[in-house]
Amino acid sequence: MPDLKDKVIIVTGASRGIGAAAALELAAQGARLVLAARNASACSEVLEQIGNNGGEAFAVSCDVSDFTAVEKMISDAKERFGRVDVLINNAGIVDPVGLIEDTDPEAWARNIQVNLVGVYHGIRAVIKDFYAQGHGTIINISSGAAHNPLEGWSAYCSGKAGVFMMTRATAHEAGEKGVRVYGFAPGVVDTDMQVTIRASGINRVSQLPRENLSKAVEPAKALAFLCSEEAADLAGQELDVRNLELRERVGLPAL
Ligand code: NDP
Repeated sequence: MPDLKDKVIIVTGASRGIGAAAALELAAQGARLVLAARNASACSEVLEQIGNNGGEAFAVSCDVSDFTAVEKMISDAKERFGRVDVLINNAGIVDPVGLIEDTDPEAWARNIQVNLVGVYHGIRAVIKDFYAQGHGTIINISSGAAHNPLEGWSAYCSGKAGVFMMTRATAHEAGEKGVRVYGFAPGVVDTDMQVTIRASGINRVSQLPRENLSKAVEPAKALAFLCSEEAADLAGQELDVRNLELRERVGLPAL
């Protein structure tokens, strides 16, 4: 198990789904957690579980689409824990789901503002600190949708494709300055987002039976591995939880 003792890790979108599972796993491995969601009170269950297990965490209200809120979240983290070691840009939305001609332009732009601009905001707000301290890790949650178009997901696919390039652009600029950057595709995971996707009935992902989806603990364990020094040789890459070599290193069963 990777040792994350005392690492200060921010997880955006930590109120439920993959972000919540990651926060629990990271805290169990000794990290101190900052949980971000639009409304901090949505993180109360996760906070309670971490506290009950002897971990340390606090929650911040932060809409990642708002740069001022993201800056405040980073400064709250530093005030509480003294520094930030890892930023996991996990917050994301799938809407609007629909054919291009049916989508609302404002909802389309909102998706990009959360999924892509939100990732930029997090990196922009923390990277100078990472340079100053000479280390830091950034993990951007990607998706198969970054690389393959899916009907009805024009906004989501475009945003995630942008995140893929943001991972590369950040690694290109920051990789030589002690900052490890990863993209990470979590697989098809049983979360609220997949409930929305199934309800839409659009494209093959919406047809997947719920029992075929993976549990959020799988990407959570892989994220813990990426936060650790053990993953240093993989820095700069976009990784997929379904990659067998990665699964072996994380200790996940082969597919
Ligand atoms: P969920 O819908 O279950 O959770 C999304 C999280 O993001 C919630 O905590 C939500 O909190 C938060 N969030 C949404 N909008 C904002 C915002 N503007 N600012 C801050 N927080 C926000 O999604 P998943 O756990 O399934 O997804 C997590 C990530 O994984 C996303 O980036 C998603 O695209 C990606 N992913 C998921 C897959 C899956 O199969 N589930 C597959 C591939 C990628 P709140 O609403 O309380 O603010």
